[in-house]
Amino acid sequence: MISNRLSSITPSYTIGVSNKVIEMKKSGIDIINLSIGEPDFNIPAKAKFVGINSLNSNFTKYDLVPGLNILREQICKKLSLENNCSYSTDEIVVSSGAKHCITNTILALTNSEDEILLPKPYWVSYPEIIKLLNCKPVFVETRLENDFKVDCKELETYITNKTKILILNNPSNPTGSIYTKEELLKIVELCSKHNIYILADEIYERICFNNQFISVASISDLAKDITITINGFSKSSAMTGLRLGYSASNKSIAKAITTIQGHLVSHPCLTSQYIAYSALKDCSSEIDNMVKHYKTRRDLVCNKLDSIENLSYIYPNGAFYVFICINSIKNKFKFKDSFSIEFCNEFLNKHKVAVVPGIAFGMDDFIRISFASNEDILLEGLNRLKLFVSNLHN
Ligand code: PMP
Repeated sequence: MISNRLSSITPSYTIGVSNKVIEMKKSGIDIINLSIGEPDFNIPAKAKFVGINSLNSNFTKYDLVPGLNILREQICKKLSLENNCSYSTDEIVVSSGAKHCITNTILALTNSEDEILLPKPYWVSYPEIIKLLNCKPVFVETRLENDFKVDCKELETYITNKTKILILNNPSNPTGSIYTKEELLKIVELCSKHNIYILADEIYERICFNNQFISVASISDLAKDITITINGFSKSSAMTGLRLGYSASNKSIAKAITTIQGHLVSHPCLTSQYIAYSALKDCSSEIDNMVKHYKTRRDLVCNKLDSIENLSYIYPNGAFYVFICINSIKNKFKFKDSFSIEFCNEFLNKHKVAVVPGIAFGMDDFIRISFASNEDILLEGLNRLKLFVSNLHN
C-alpha cells in the first residue's frame, strides 16, 4: 500500500500540460507552447567550459554537504553586491534546485500540523510540498487591485498559534508582481511580532524590469534573522536541468538544513556546482543580455494583450509570466469543475497553443502564459489567443 501522505497530493498541473504537449507533438501536431517556466536560452558558454574542465580534472568525488566552498563564497559576494545582504559561507546551503531548498527549509523549521501561510495565487508546488511534509497550507486571499500582493491587515487574520512560516514569492510566479520596501517592512514587522519565519523565494529576482526588486532579508537585521532566502540557477542562468539552488539563512537554520541534506542527498551534483560558480563569477553580461530579451518580450506580449478585448492582466515587473484574467468570458464556456482547465483545453485543441490554467495557482478565473520563448512564437501564440477570444463573441 502507498503511504497516506500521497492521498491529498495533486499531480503538478504544469507538468500535466507539458505531458499533453509532448503527446500531441509525438503524434505530429505542431504546438505553440506558452506553458513552460523554462528559459529558451542555453547555459553561458564560459560556465559550461568550467563544468567540463571540472570533469576532466576528475572533480567527481564526495565533497562538502552544504556545497563547494568556492561556490558559497561566490554566492556570498553576489548576495552582498546585488542584494545588499551580508552572509558568511556557513549561512549558505547549496541544494539540488530551489524546490529542494524549499523542502529542506520546511523540514528544518516545522513540526507536524504546523501551518504555513501561502498567499494566493501561489506557485503550484508549494501546497503539495507543505502537505508532503505533514504541515498545513493556509491559503491567504489577496486582491487584484493590489496586483495580488499580501495586505498585512488581512494577513494577520490568518495567523494562529500554529503558524510557523509565511511563503513570500517575490517576484511572483505567476503574476510577476514585485513588493515595495514599504510593503516588505510591514510584512517583517507582522511576522516578527508573531514569531513567524519568512521563506522568501527569490528565484526570479535577477529577472526584474523596473530595478525595484529588494531582498526582504536586506531591509533590517531583524528581517535577515527571520528570513530564509531561496534562490537558484534554473531561471537566472538557464540551468533548469542541472538542478541547483541555494538557501541563505541564519547559522542555526543553515546547520539544521545541512544535517537534513547530509542524510538525504549528501550534496548536490559537483559538476553543476562548478558551472554555477562560473555563471556567478564570469557570466553576468550574458545573464544581463537574457534579461534584456525577457523585457523586450514582456513589452511585446503586453502590447498584444492590450489589443485583445475582454482580457485583462497583471502587468509583470519581473519573472517571465503574464497572469491573464479570463473572467469576462466565463459565460461563453460550459464546464463542470474548472473553467480555466476548460478554457485551456479548448484553446489547445482548437488553436494548438498550450497555456497553464489559473486553477494550478489557486485562481480559476485566470490563465498563465510564459514569455520565455522567442518573439515569433509569442506573436503567433497571441494572435491565436486573440482569434480564439474574438470567435467566442461571434
Ligand atoms: N520557486 C518558484 C516560484 C518557481 O517558479 C520554481 C520553478 N518553476 C521553483 C521555485 C523551482 O526551481 P528549481 O528549478 O530551482 O527547483
